[in-house]
Amino acid sequence: MSHVQAVTVLEASQQSDKKHLVNSNNVNGKINNITKRNAYKDTNNNEQQITKESLNVTPTDSEEPQEYSLLGLVTFKSPIKWLNSVSIILIHLIFVYAFLTYPLQGGFITTIWGFIVGGIGGFGVTGGAHRFWCHRSYKANVPLRTILMLCYCTAGQNTLYDWVRDHRVHHKYSETDADPHNSNRGFFFAHVGWLMLQKHPQVLKKGRAIDMSDVLADPVIQFHQKYFIPLKIICCFIIPTIVPVYFWGESWYMAFMSQSVIRYLFSLNFTWLVNSAAHMWGYKPYDNRINPVENVAVAVVAMGEGWHNYHHVFPWDYKAAELGDYKLNITTMWIDFFAKIGWAWDLKEPSSDLIRRTVEKHGDGSHTTYGHSENVFANNGPIEAIAAPGEPNLGY
Ligand SMILES: [Zn+2]
Ligand SMILES: [Zn+2]
Repeated sequence: MSHVQAVTVLEASQQSDKKHLVNSNNVNGKINNITKRNAYKDTNNNEQQITKESLNVTPTDSEEPQEYSLLGLVTFKSPIKWLNSVSIILIHLIFVYAFLTYPLQGGFITTIWGFIVGGIGGFGVTGGAHRFWCHRSYKANVPLRTILMLCYCTAGQNTLYDWVRDHRVHHKYSETDADPHNSNRGFFFAHVGWLMLQKHPQVLKKGRAIDMSDVLADPVIQFHQKYFIPLKIICCFIIPTIVPVYFWGESWYMAFMSQSVIRYLFSLNFTWLVNSAAHMWGYKPYDNRINPVENVAVAVVAMGEGWHNYHHVFPWDYKAAELGDYKLNITTMWIDFFAKIGWAWDLKEPSSDLIRRTVEKHGDGSHTTYGHSENVFANNGPIEAIAAPGEPNLGY
């Protein structure tokens, strides 16, 4: 796909965002006239069926969403994405059944394989989508970018374009209506609920304003965008399931359940914990004015992405943490490895002096080296990230 074509595809995706806005704004007073099912695609290419029942609302022209009710039992700030919600709930139910009935003794090699595939997908998300494409915290040659893209496909998430745009908006407008997984809307919303509801109009509006030209210009991203669905199916489901069957005689049922359900669901939830737990429970040694925290448990399961208070202050640090402890940051180990063989370079890090000054000015006193006992800062909402030396502050 040429660059122009890629831009066209992605602009079409953005147009569908616009369609959602127009759609939700126009339904005021017209809801009773909806007699046919009205299908459209959202930014994640998820087909969404709008029905009279699913809307069950009286939207206004205001950009502020109304309360949306489900059978009068639960209320939401946005309309429900039914297809996403049912799929997410269904696969979690299958996951619970598969996990509870998993034969631990019988499936040892298959279990190890699950950890390997999970690690490959995890590296694609953390080292690729997050630290490379979203934050540009280091540079990488085409072979490494290709590896990162294929690893990312193994995790079975949204397109890289959607991932990067959502994450840039998240950093720039953390804990506001424009944050796709605003943690002020509760743990469940920040974890997975945001994928089950329509995006807040502010998320769409601010998302369209994010500069994505660097991502669009990357031929690896263009290839990924063009072949997103087959790449996801092959890397996330087919290869992980086929390998145990052909190489060590695993049954198809066990291979599928262990890799395409259990491994996939653990991997998704580990990623989501960065948006939920790492915005709620932990210390704030670098900036006490923001929600993101340092959470060791999340760092372990998300391959080094749990040092989230630090990361929101210095999003351009390739380690996404102050210290490069490989045990709690496997992603950093791999980036360092690729830097050693010359495939990654320009690994960005703040000076220890900048970190110390930041800790002393805004930290909660819990930093092991520069901590202080006073804790005088209140949480005042979103604070801009510190810019990398010599670079403009984009806020992500
Ligand atoms: Zn965050
Ligand atoms: Zn980030």
